[in-house]
Amino acid sequence: MEKFKKQLEQELQEIEKQLEESERPQATELSNYDNHPADNASDLTDQLTEMVIDEHRSDHAEEIKHALQAMEDGTYGKCAICGEEIPIGRLEAKPEALTCVEHAEKMEDYLRPVEEDVLSPTPKSDDFIELEQFGNSDTPQDKSL
Ligand SMILES: [Zn+2]
Repeated sequence: MEKFKKQLEQELQEIEKQLEESERPQATELSNYDNHPADNASDLTDQLTEMVIDEHRSDHAEEIKHALQAMEDGTYGKCAICGEEIPIGRLEAKPEALTCVEHAEKMEDYLRPVEEDVLSPTPKSDDFIELEQFGNSDTPQDKSL
């Protein structure tokens, strides 16, 4: 466990350093915002991208802090959802793991990074609501009558 603790503390330090240096965005994989509704506001998109990366890092930092806290509390190594022991192999691969493999998805839902919401195909965004309102105020029936 000491090994994991050192590993996590080191990783947390690195993330916090990156958060401080985040004026320089290096957003290659997040730059595919072609379908973003606000594509006329590229400044906004840049800011958003930077925000998303920071958010992602913060999420990871949160996860690590949770794990370090769990070490303090003596609950480290147990699944936060079902309480089962987390296999040592999983902890070696992912020392910040707070759940067993079975419940990892639930925890990832909980700590889900923002860009997945932005890129999500589920029609719950503002522009969808706008489209719906537009459709209602100018329906084909009104025109044909
Ligand atoms: Zn579990």
